[in-house]
Order: sequence, then structure tokens, then C-alpha cells
Amino acid sequence: MTAARLAGTELARALREDVAARAADLRAAGTPVRVAIVVATDDGGSAWYVRSIVKACEKAGIEAGVTDLGPAATGGEIATTLQKLSADGSVSGIILQTPLPPGVGLSAMAENVDVAKDIDGVNPLSLGRLTAGVEAFAPATAEAVVRLIEHHGIELAGRDAVIVGRSLVVGKPLAQLLLERNATVTVAHSRTRDLAQVTQRAEVLVAAVGRTHLIGPGHVSAGTNVIDVGTNPTEDGGLAGDVSPDVAEVAAGLSPVPGGVGPVTTALLLTHAVQAAERAR
Ligand code: NAP
Repeated sequence: MTAARLAGTELARALREDVAARAADLRAAGTPVRVAIVVATDDGGSAWYVRSIVKACEKAGIEAGVTDLGPAATGGEIATTLQKLSADGSVSGIILQTPLPPGVGLSAMAENVDVAKDIDGVNPLSLGRLTAGVEAFAPATAEAVVRLIEHHGIELAGRDAVIVGRSLVVGKPLAQLLLERNATVTVAHSRTRDLAQVTQRAEVLVAAVGRTHLIGPGHVSAGTNVIDVGTNPTEDGGLAGDVSPDVAEVAAGLSPVPGGVGPVTTALLLTHAVQAAERAR
């Protein structure tokens, strides 16, 4: 058996079309959508990601402005920049790009992003609100996983869902989103004993680790749907997932890397920006 390909490209296209129509309406009403991206790194991967966000914004009729503070920026400079953008009525959404300079903590900085403009859900208040069932933006990647699962008609209520990875941007918020959809959620991490035993009981398995092909066929049971969040750079300039391709011989479904969670994540960031602009009217 070969697993179904749980691609994200079609869903991402539909989301982008919806974003473009809503952004056009907002422009026509004199309230254009504007995204501010704050960068404090010279990391090449980050620069590539920022360019791809700016391009996606432009295609959707969203204005994108990059504030590049450079890799030597202090926590104080970053915090002040985020506070100014939060107070700026012309800015709909704010993205704080990582990595941050050494010694500058993401959560401490993210506290300076107005929750209403926190389109990538990095402010700890956003995660708290999400946990309490109060309106807030989820980190786009975590939401992308859920939207991808739903797009492919995979049932979550009552199912055993296992997430490998407990980061603030993926694993933890995703656990909340899956709980909200009535899955029985287990979160595994680097201290989990016998990872394969834990992942084998998953009906839905999400790998968000950052280790190339960590999850192999021995981690997966027949009939499991596997979502691969990992984006690990390969030597030839490509991307590899956290899930080994031969998992497709065991699983019911497997999301590709690239072309799975990634395009949906970008499209949801834009969706959040439009939602923020609509709510601010
Ligand atoms: P992260 O902050 O480094 O967190 C990785 C998590 O994996 C941690 O919770 C860690 O456990 C756990 N882990 C590490 N080694 C493990 C092992 N051997 N067994 C089990 N768990 C292990 O990473 P992240 O930011 O969540 O990103 C994860 C991956 O997703 C990366 O490849 C990243 O590039 C990718 N990503 C993709 C998108 C997208 O849009 N497609 C967006 C964001 C991230 P501990 O907590 O115990 O250290």
C-alpha cells in the first residue's frame, strides 16, 4: 500500500484567493492590509523566508514592510520597535522573525506585540487565550496542520493524536487546537522514553522536530495519517521532512515536504492579517 499524499497546495491556493478578495475589499474601503515584519538576524534561511512572505503579501494585495534591525540589535531596540508598530494604526499585523540575536528571548520580545496584531501567535498571551478558548491567533504552522488534516477529511474527534515536538510555535499550540477538536492528544519530546512505542498508537501523527527522517516505518502503524512539519535543509539546497519517505509504505496518508504544511502556513499568515484588519475597522 502507498499512503495518500496529503498535499497542501490546493488548500493554500484557495486560502490565498480568499485573502486576495478580502484584501481588495479592504483596499476599496480605504483600509489596506499592512503587515510589518521585524528582522534582527543575518541568517540566510530567515532572509529567504522573509522574501517569500513579502512576495506572497504582494501577490495578495497586502502591503508588507520589513524593519531590519540587524543581527546586533538589542532586546530594548526590538521591544521599542514592536511597541511602535503595535501602536501604529496603519499596521494590521506584525511578524517577529526568528532567530533573534543571542541572549534575546522570543517570549520576552513577543510580549510587546499587540495581541490583536499577533498574526503568528507568538505573544504568550495569545497561547494563553487559545488555551482558554478566548479569541486569539494561533501560530500559523500549528493551525496549518489542523487545516490540512480537515481539508483531507481526516476525522479528529475521539482519535488518538500524537505530536512529536513541544515547541511554543508548533507542538504546544497544536496540542490545544487538537484538544479543541476532541482528539486524545499525546505530546512526545526529546525526553520521551521509547518514542516508537508512543507514536505507534497514533491514528494521527504529527512530526515537528527538526531532525531529518527521525520518524521511520517502525514508528507508524497501518492506517495512520502522518503530517510532516519538519523543514530540514539538504546538502543540495532542498528541504527534507522529519518523516522518512518509506513511511508511505505503512501509513494511510503522508504530507509531502515541500508542498504540505509549508504553503498552508504562509497562506494562513495572510489570512490572519486580513482578519486583523477586518476586526480593526
Ligand atoms: P524546536 O523549537 O527546535 O522544537 C523541536 C522539538 O522537537 C522539541 O520539543 C524537542 O524536544 C523535540 N525533539 C528534538 N529531538 C527529538 C527526538 N530525538 N525525539 C523526540 N523529540 C525530539 O523546533 P520547531 O520550531 O518546533 O520546528 C520543528 C520543525 O518544524 C523544524 O524542522 C522547523 O524547521 C519546522 N517548521 C516548519 C514550519 C512550516 O511552516 N512548515 C514552521 C515552523 C517550523 P525538547 O522540547 O525536549 O527539546
